[in-house]
Amino acid sequence: ATASDPYEVVVIGGGPGGYVAAIKAAQLGLKTACIEKRGALGGTCLNVGCIPSKAMLNNSHMFHQAQHDMERRGIDVSGVSLNLPTMLKAKDDAVNGLTKGVEFLFKQNKVDYIKGAASFVSPTQISVALNDGGETQVETKNVIIATGSEVTPFPGGSIEIDEEQIVSSTGALSLQKVPEKMVVIGGGVIGLELGSVWSRLGAEVTVVEFLSGIGGAGIDEEIAKQFQRTLTKQGLKFKLNTKVLSAEKQDGKVVLKTEAAKGGKEETLDADVVLVSVGRRPYVTGLNLEAIGLEMDNKGRIVIDDQFNTSVKNIKCIGDVTFGPMLAHKAEEEGIAAVEYIKSGHGHVNYHAIPAVVYTHPEVAWVGKTEQELKASGVQYNIGKFNFTANSRAKTNLDTDGFVKIISEKETDRILGVHIMGPNAGEMISEGVLAMEYGASAEDVARTCHAHPTLSEAFKEAAMAAYSRPIHQ
Ligand code: FAD
Ligand code: NAD
Repeated sequence: ATASDPYEVVVIGGGPGGYVAAIKAAQLGLKTACIEKRGALGGTCLNVGCIPSKAMLNNSHMFHQAQHDMERRGIDVSGVSLNLPTMLKAKDDAVNGLTKGVEFLFKQNKVDYIKGAASFVSPTQISVALNDGGETQVETKNVIIATGSEVTPFPGGSIEIDEEQIVSSTGALSLQKVPEKMVVIGGGVIGLELGSVWSRLGAEVTVVEFLSGIGGAGIDEEIAKQFQRTLTKQGLKFKLNTKVLSAEKQDGKVVLKTEAAKGGKEETLDADVVLVSVGRRPYVTGLNLEAIGLEMDNKGRIVIDDQFNTSVKNIKCIGDVTFGPMLAHKAEEEGIAAVEYIKSGHGHVNYHAIPAVVYTHPEVAWVGKTEQELKASGVQYNIGKFNFTANSRAKTNLDTDGFVKIISEKETDRILGVHIMGPNAGEMISEGVLAMEYGASAEDVARTCHAHPTLSEAFKEAAMAAYSRPIHQ
């Protein structure tokens, strides 16, 4: 291909879906460009999502440990204090290092990085309003749309986000002062992760959740209950079955009106900072999809078939802007598969084995079916459970809160779901994903040698419990 030839693939959006697709396409020998308007690669995940939130979660956990958990370990630390500007800088350094790293990978793999906002002129012609001014036209045979998602505003427009006092996750990652009182609207993943961060740093945090349980979609109910108990012990307060009606700024505070989901009893709460975390929605602003007649569904998602094809022949779509869980690793898998379809006509994503992790402490992680889903569909199952209190490594680490729960099909012993709350659950869940990817039975896992003393022995023993009996419990 020469410089004047059209591109074979143009990816719109440089988030985990888009940048991975672009690198893969270039690796497969396709002439590739990626258009990103943010001024940095990595999308929501690297810039204002996964990465900065994990930096704050890790370091706020250490601060909390230093304040509350060192004495019993025989470590005397006195005069522990928070230097919030330095903690925020450590987060920003992690973000900057990683976004630059993706830019380096683009150079290494010869992906053209076009900095600007893309807009369709036709299915094969894209106009880019360049960040540095001016405009350029890009010709391409194939397009992958990976424009991601944005914060869902509070319904009815009654709560306006200013990113200082009434914040979305983005503002909550950069508060310049620890609020005395924080109210979190929505007890899903963002609310629990960022609520934990500010609670550990000293805020009094109340989470208001419309549903009867925390953790968002896909969490196992038994895990959700224990998770709530654990977070409550850590100091978070929960108001479940409660709807927020309004939030208004008054004399330097925010006053919220809430209503019981059933019965309608009204209450007033006040806060110094309010975090609105009621979900995210697909983002297509400025793409000019009308020009090419792309089909969307009633939730604003771009409609695709099982090979990522949109309603326009040469345009594929992946990640948060289309169906499925809004997760970075899901977007990455789709990015690779979509490119493989373009190159060879074959690609693959196993939607039954996509893990979810909540990076609190302890972590919560799961893959596959929940117990309530299996019950509802009438599938007969076994459950194997193993508590971390009976795991030697968790015990020596003084970190025993939680359990592993493995659900297998009664007749075949095949693993259908894994649900973990516990230290390092987010790493441990990969074993469950791998087991499910290979169609393993609980016995297969139970007969696999696990190193001692490790937390993953709890995983093995839960598998033993599912098909027979564990040894240590
Ligand atoms: P995005 O990452 O949203 O990227 C889309 C990109 O496209 C953006 O950079 C945008 O600027 C660009 N763009 C949009 N329109 C145009 C246009 N017209 N022209 C040019 N560029 C355009 N997921 C996890 O798996 N693990 C986590 O721990 C996790 N933590 C999160 C924490 C927070 C606070 C948030 C908000 C999200 C978190 N997520 C997490 C979700 C994760 O960030 C998303 O699922 C992921 O970023 C989706 O990737 P994507 O490539 O589809 O879109
Ligand atoms: P979410 O869908 O996980 O949770 C939103 C919660 O708000 C739900 O529990 C919902 O019942 C509740 N809610 C909705 N309207 C409400 C109202 N009016 N009053 C009270 N409660 C209300 O969404 P989120 O936490 O905003 O996260 C957005 C996306 O980002 C998710 O799809 C998630 O997958 C992704 N994310 C992932 C991670 C991770 O993987 N660790 C971390 C952060 C975000």
